[in-house]
Amino acid sequence: MELSAPSAAASASLRCEGRLSDCGIRPTAQRVRIATLLLSAPQHLSAEQILASLRAAGARVSKATVYNTLNLFAAHGLIRQLSVDGSRAWFDSNVEPHYHFHDLESGALIDVPVPAVAFSSLPVPPPGTEVAGIDLVIRLRKKM
Ligand SMILES: [Zn+2]
Repeated sequence: MELSAPSAAASASLRCEGRLSDCGIRPTAQRVRIATLLLSAPQHLSAEQILASLRAAGARVSKATVYNTLNLFAAHGLIRQLSVDGSRAWFDSNVEPHYHFHDLESGALIDVPVPAVAFSSLPVPPPGTEVAGIDLVIRLRKKM
């Protein structure tokens, strides 16, 4: 996380407070703090990374609070929860439609714009259903 002047940090947290309210989330101090951390830049963070950052900044916050807050944010469309490898939950501050590269070595997630991908064939969905969205994770490894 980059260092910023107190006034810039204060205005960032005010902006986040507004975004929480706009999404129908009551902006408690704890929620604003978590939102400010996650929404400060387009990024992908695991719940563990967010918890570690909050604690490093001196916040006394429980793991359960962080998880509950992130799930609340995702349910209200403020952030997007990603299923990448099943072992941990990732949260994306970019809620616009896009896909991901996943670097297996570093664990990094890199955005892939939707127009960069073309599906030539998709299965017909079961009767009475329609495709609501497609998740795509392209796993990367070092060339052999
Ligand atoms: Zn993303």
